[in-house]
Amino acid sequence: MNHSARITARTCRDAPVLRQRGQREVFCGLTGIIWLHRKMQDAFFLVVGSRTCAHLLQSAAGVMIFAEPRFGTAILEEGDLAGMADAHDELDREVARLLDRRPDIRQLFLVGSCPSEVIKLDLARAAERLTQVYAPRVRVLNYSGSGIETTFTQGEDACLASMVPALPASDMRELLLVGALPEVVEDQAISLLGKMGVGPIRVLPAPRSAEMPGVGPNTVFACLQPFLGTTVAALQNRGARMIRAPFPFGEEGTTLWLKAIANEFSVDDATFERVTVAPRTRARTAITNASAVLRGKSIFFMPDSQLEIPLTRFLVRECGMEAIEIGQPYIHKGLVDPDLDLIPAGPVISEGQDVDLQLDRIRAVRPDLTVCGLGLANPLEAEGLTTKWAIELVFTPVHFYEQAGDLAGLFSRPLRRRDLLKPEAAGPFPETHAVAR
Ligand code: SF4
Repeated sequence: MNHSARITARTCRDAPVLRQRGQREVFCGLTGIIWLHRKMQDAFFLVVGSRTCAHLLQSAAGVMIFAEPRFGTAILEEGDLAGMADAHDELDREVARLLDRRPDIRQLFLVGSCPSEVIKLDLARAAERLTQVYAPRVRVLNYSGSGIETTFTQGEDACLASMVPALPASDMRELLLVGALPEVVEDQAISLLGKMGVGPIRVLPAPRSAEMPGVGPNTVFACLQPFLGTTVAALQNRGARMIRAPFPFGEEGTTLWLKAIANEFSVDDATFERVTVAPRTRARTAITNASAVLRGKSIFFMPDSQLEIPLTRFLVRECGMEAIEIGQPYIHKGLVDPDLDLIPAGPVISEGQDVDLQLDRIRAVRPDLTVCGLGLANPLEAEGLTTKWAIELVFTPVHFYEQAGDLAGLFSRPLRRRDLLKPEAAGPFPETHAVAR
């Protein structure tokens, strides 16, 4: 069987990109801590920020208040912000208190925020100084999760990129999977690749600091997420080579992603077929069942999760949707070109956001489904539009074969709900637009 995808005559790869800069409606990079702290079990994320930053984290990760959390906020008080106190001394005291109380911490991330950037608190210098104090027991790194210029998935990119220079050097030929996925999903990928004979396989981030992978000129890596541009550059600086492929969303994306790795490791076609045929069939069936309501419907992506381009490829090619606009906060062409290659030309590709202009475009075309941030969803629903929260796509396991049906289901659910709420379906009750989700 030929696994090279059919590339449409004219694709989105060379389409002009509409670039706009104006008011943006996205979460900041601190949001990534919610899934990163679950993944790295001996890490701690210390946000150096304001009470607003602390509230964001606390409300987004509220379930953690009953456990010993692996994140916290060192609050910058007015005196710090006015330059009246030495914020470095206070930070050193906070870190000493934390590490004394929590001997399980092996990696400490100092996470910058809007306030720490505004007062130009040099967290890189602080991380260097604190590493000298606490190495080798604790490695202290830093990155920025500030919302001034970043969107929420860039927090993960910045975090992983900060780890790369500290990874040990290695000459081993290894496959590195890059990106934080739920364990169960990561295990599926490793299991499929292992059955093909691909290995050794390492992951970044590893669950524990002692298991961090080595990196060097014989490392080849495959990205699991399309928002890891800075991490990719850092790995390439260490001599590693990227395997380019569409991202593993849906049956087709997963097959092409696995096939690119299989080719790199000289897996023969018969083995590839034997390992993938059953899960591929399950994925196709699940997608067919979940996507009936999506066929022929139009979709508009506002820029948010940075998953927009690969997801459009999945929705257009495997679920029969028509894309009107694919908005991304930032487009890393080197990462998403294989996906753009597979999307037929037609939709507007936009990078960045001027939210009022984008809302005008949405109102003009009235798509069947709009994917957007939390703050925009209910106002758009009140205007009679059907929406999907972009952030759910990051918090829900959606990669690889076994999740392909769930991925289609995430998009079909709001359309089904809309049909159920239509006046004729709703019986004698008045029409309701703004709905709790
Ligand atoms: S980093 Fe900036 S955008 Fe994020 S919660 Fe703190 S102040 Fe708000």
